[in-house]
Amino acid sequence: MNILLQEWELPPFDQIRIDDYEPAVRAAIEEAEHNVEAIATSTEEPTFENTVVALEAADRRLQRVSAIMMNLNECCTSEALQEVVMRLEPLMTRFGMKVMTDERLYERVKSYELRVKRAGERLTVEQKTLLDNTLKSFVRHGVALPPEQREQYKKNEEELSELKLRFSQNALADLNDWTLHLTDEADLVGLPQSVRAAAREEAQDRGLDGWLFTLAAPSYTPFMTYSDRRDLREKMYRAYGSIGGRGGEHDNNEVIRRIVALRAEQARLLGYDTYCDYVLEDRMVQSLPNLRRFMQELKDAVLPAAQSDLAEIKSLTELSERNLIKNIDENRNDSDDSVSEKEDSVMPWDFSYYAEKLKQQRYSFDSEALRPYFPLDAVREGIFALYGRLYGLTFTEDKSVPIYHEDVKVYRVADGDREMGLLYLDMFPRPSKRSGAWMTEFRGQYGDVRPQIQVVCNFSKPTSDTPSLLRFREVETFMHEMGHAMHGMLSDVSFESLSGTNVKRDFVEMPSQVMENWCYEPEFLSTFARHYRTGELLPTGYIEKIRAAQNHMAGWLCLRQLNLGFTDIAFHTVSDGSAIGKAEEVEAKAMTNLLPRISGCCTATSFSHIFGGGYASGYYGYKWAEVLDADIFSRFKHDGIFNRDTATAFRREILSRGGTEHPAVLFKNFMGREPDNQALLRRMGLLNPESLTINL
Ligand SMILES: [Zn+2]
Repeated sequence: MNILLQEWELPPFDQIRIDDYEPAVRAAIEEAEHNVEAIATSTEEPTFENTVVALEAADRRLQRVSAIMMNLNECCTSEALQEVVMRLEPLMTRFGMKVMTDERLYERVKSYELRVKRAGERLTVEQKTLLDNTLKSFVRHGVALPPEQREQYKKNEEELSELKLRFSQNALADLNDWTLHLTDEADLVGLPQSVRAAAREEAQDRGLDGWLFTLAAPSYTPFMTYSDRRDLREKMYRAYGSIGGRGGEHDNNEVIRRIVALRAEQARLLGYDTYCDYVLEDRMVQSLPNLRRFMQELKDAVLPAAQSDLAEIKSLTELSERNLIKNIDENRNDSDDSVSEKEDSVMPWDFSYYAEKLKQQRYSFDSEALRPYFPLDAVREGIFALYGRLYGLTFTEDKSVPIYHEDVKVYRVADGDREMGLLYLDMFPRPSKRSGAWMTEFRGQYGDVRPQIQVVCNFSKPTSDTPSLLRFREVETFMHEMGHAMHGMLSDVSFESLSGTNVKRDFVEMPSQVMENWCYEPEFLSTFARHYRTGELLPTGYIEKIRAAQNHMAGWLCLRQLNLGFTDIAFHTVSDGSAIGKAEEVEAKAMTNLLPRISGCCTATSFSHIFGGGYASGYYGYKWAEVLDADIFSRFKHDGIFNRDTATAFRREILSRGGTEHPAVLFKNFMGREPDNQALLRRMGLLNPESLTINL
């Protein structure tokens, strides 16, 4: 008996065998195809129920089965499960594409929409959104195009997915192709012990002696931050900057040109001027002019701060010039492509290094010393209690719910007598789990059906004599993921595809990021942050230091993010993709460069977010969501961070509404006005009194 093909209320983790997945997914696809076919060939007059809702529900079993399989593949995988997923994922993608490119379905939904318009049928806001979304996703898959163009669109999509993969593979190949092998311990000057140990291990793994540094972030970033050897930092920087742009078979310049050309063509086929216009239409920001205004105004506001950050770094390097750098330069091996030794300006390979020195001078505190104040159990109870104060929620552990691993704890979340849903917390790393932290669902909310939500983290495990003690960064991560989880949990909508976190891509991080703000509030921290042995409260001095350090180089870092956003836009607003020059030139023009640009160094050739992943025309989203969350939190800050009325309004106007209405409307319903990016500038400590009022 295949448990996945039975009816179940709780995911039956205790009864699933690996061999159950394949037949269950195949049967669920068949069932969904059957349902879809029935809608497409129905002779009944199309109604909201028999067409729009029926389409929404057609693949429900497939969604349940695949949610279990895909979620477990991330957090509790095995070779066998990976193989199954590899076999089944293309089938599921193909099914989705087949539905979205089925003309008969499109025509049926379209004819229903016409009838609504003609007969003046009244739909609720939510029904209207579902109808619009359904139609739009057909159109955005090219189904409304004449047959020849539709074929072209499909072919382009296929080529694009190959190119994206090739882009990432090229970048990875170049990344792996270069290493810095050091054999003299003196060359490690400045590097912390843990960094040295990792480099030693890396060398041993490859049968080498000494220390090996690579261009992967865990090796590259600390090297650039701590190494006292300017010449070696320069080498690392140049190697990193040339990823995907070294010529030869792994060069991404041509791949970028082709991706950009194809995306421009896809947009044109669908009737948009540029690829950016196509993407942004379906985002909160809505249009390219809106986005440009947002980016430009934010840039104008942070540029002076970024310049003064650089000035501080300059004065620090001048000081060091007299003490430190002289000595270092004696060790220096001159090479032809190095910048002249007399070069006294700050170079790109100096910035992180001096920024870290400055940070330590100013806010020196040992982040390890904070951990004893954040035992995981206390943090969790503190967060639960916060949700109790804000929304009246209670969390009760239920050990009878089946789990997929012994580390998982399940909580029944309730609002008074009302069951809100299940929360699965899976907090510790294991070899079968990927790194990072995330929130996902086994089932989303719709109607009376309550959600089953999973939060997965990789926090340090307890040992025999010490509980799990979190770093401050991890406390923030926990709050962030719980923010997503409660967006799902407090959902109160009729249709699953509009519930919880199913919102516009540039809005989804707001409810999670806004919760991080509480981590900096002594009033909240004092409710739970006590030393796990002595019971002593977290000293307020620590909190102030954390808060101050958070804004260290904020202007500089913000400009950096904006530069990446401008680069993203530059590549996705060209009308003739094949006419763009080298990626390096496009990028140089798009960015505001305060440091000298180094010939042969380029971010775009390894910018996988936009050329290998799903962030094309969407990189701005990080900053956009920050503006929203800073703004929203300013109301909590004003009304009181535990204010029940404010929280109730936030829940009613935003959290419970999911994607049922445009986020700009939801935002305005809660805030009573448009978003204001001053809130972010204020939080970054960058707002001066004369600055203008800026609206998004
Ligand atoms: Zn998130």
